[in-house]
Amino acid sequence: MKVDLSGTSELFILVSPNGQMLAASEAMLPLLSYVEPLLPDLVQAADGADVFLNGLQYTLQRQLLWQAPGVPFGLVLTFRQPAPAPLVDHRLGEMALTLSSKLEMNHVLEHVVRFAMDLLDADAGALPVYDPDHDRLLPGHLVNLPVDLVTPVKGPRRGLMWQMIERGTSILIPDYANHPMALPELARVGVSSLLATPIMHGKTPLGVLAVYRFRNKPFQESDRDLLQAIAHQTAIALQSARMYQRAIRNADERYTLYQASIEIGATLDLEQLYQAIHRAVNRLIPHAGFTIALLNDQQMVEYVYLVTTAGRQPAVQLPLTYGIAGYVLRFGVSLRLSGAHALPEPAMQPALEIEGDLDHRSLLATPLVVGDRIIGALLAWHDHLDAYTMSDLSALEMLAATVAVALHNTLRFAHVQSLAMTDTLTELMNRRHFLHVLQHEIDRSRRYQTPVSVVMIDIDHFKQVNDTYGHLAGDQVLRDVAKRCRACLRDVDVLARYGGEEFGLILPETPYEAALVVAERLCRTAMAAPFLVHGSSITLTLSAGVASFQSVLHPDPSSLIADADRALYLAKRRGRNRVCGAQELSTYAEP
Ligand code: GH3
Ligand code: MG
Ligand code: MG
Repeated sequence: MKVDLSGTSELFILVSPNGQMLAASEAMLPLLSYVEPLLPDLVQAADGADVFLNGLQYTLQRQLLWQAPGVPFGLVLTFRQPAPAPLVDHRLGEMALTLSSKLEMNHVLEHVVRFAMDLLDADAGALPVYDPDHDRLLPGHLVNLPVDLVTPVKGPRRGLMWQMIERGTSILIPDYANHPMALPELARVGVSSLLATPIMHGKTPLGVLAVYRFRNKPFQESDRDLLQAIAHQTAIALQSARMYQRAIRNADERYTLYQASIEIGATLDLEQLYQAIHRAVNRLIPHAGFTIALLNDQQMVEYVYLVTTAGRQPAVQLPLTYGIAGYVLRFGVSLRLSGAHALPEPAMQPALEIEGDLDHRSLLATPLVVGDRIIGALLAWHDHLDAYTMSDLSALEMLAATVAVALHNTLRFAHVQSLAMTDTLTELMNRRHFLHVLQHEIDRSRRYQTPVSVVMIDIDHFKQVNDTYGHLAGDQVLRDVAKRCRACLRDVDVLARYGGEEFGLILPETPYEAALVVAERLCRTAMAAPFLVHGSSITLTLSAGVASFQSVLHPDPSSLIADADRALYLAKRRGRNRVCGAQELSTYAEP
């Protein structure tokens, strides 16, 4: 029985204890006819004995196999050809072993260069690494050479290194100084001969392994094979190191995305959601700036969350035809840019206020897609070129896929919520929400003893506007008045449409006297200019009543509003176009 033990280049046979051949390795098959007559002697021969097969000398190695303790099963006889250079062979094996335990890229590079220099008796060594993301050579690891001399990181593919990568062949230059492609810088530091070989994984270049001698003892053709053997081992080690790094990163990314999805699913609060997204980006991608851009109802790009090196910035709104986010929103594509020359459209207008000067920046952008709709974009950028790889972009894309639906839901929720709070005609707060906010402000005032005032405002003789110009024109005037009043106030002041053509105003942290001043100014400023109705301009006035919260007088919001309302009617009685305060009411108790 002859069993084929294929898949190995080793020469060995398996024989039974009584000298019968049981199996042979594939490489052994051509030699079997020479082995068979020798079998009775071979089972008896000593380990390390010399054997001649077909005129070649081999060293015999014996290994006994046991079926059970004390019961021999068979004998493996291995025939080793004496190595031409046993030292190098041994060292190569050692290198392969060391490398397989080094999974960090830098360790691999360092060891390879050290081994190659050692084995080839070189004075300097280099292992520039090919970066497929940017189609460039990185300096990798260098010994006894200045960094930028070996591989210009930027610029066109030129020089011997690129030539080797492109052709996949090694180069031996015995007389470096007189070689047409010699780099003068290298000749100047004393390089007299060069031996280099590309490190390939299949057809993929991984880098170049180069050794240099400074002495007048050039590399030989025989050195070339050895360097290629080292390069072959290196390819395997580099590939494992890359896979290892990718695996580590993927595991980190998956965990970050998982965490983000939990955090993000747990909130319906927009601001909290933005911050959760930013936290995830912080863990995934190094960046100097980050923004979440959303497409709003007016088809504008709203940068709702914007963080630069100077910290969180106020939200900005820009046209859709503007900036990287606008581009991503219009075309639904991801972008990875390095420098302004990489812009997808040369005529494209960058949004300077967001993206800054792209000439010296790297940027990643990806759309937020829900179903077939693009609802927004995530952008991250860095303040130097070539900051991002394809895996950075895919990390951002994965995050975008994770957050898009959550963001969409939260936005919808916020929209529905704001619909419930907003008066549709004037877009001011509605009465229900006004009462809610007032309750909140009163509670705060009770707790911290801070003042809060309420102003009730009514348009004078508004019925005449309707009667003269029609109800629709009246609506428009109401909208205009609301807009003008809002523009006169601070952000913290709360203006609501309380009913019909009556407005309610909450002035937090504002005592009675100051509230009177605010109300006076508001009525005067807002109504100073006439309103344009159907081509004719009409002048309108407001009346207002002011009351400030006092815990003894106002057990609830409606009692405070009632006081402001009575002050308003006092203003009406006194002839309109004026502000009255609750303290002017005869029934009002002095504080
Ligand atoms: P004054 O307040 O100075 O006493 O006189 P006025 O004419 O404003 O009288 P009042 O406040 O009593 O009347 C409110 C009028 O405002 C009645 C109504 O026709 C009009 N009005 C209320 N709500 C709306 C609205 O939503 N749209 C329009 N066009 N008119 C409204
Ligand atoms: Mg009125
Ligand atoms: Mg009224």
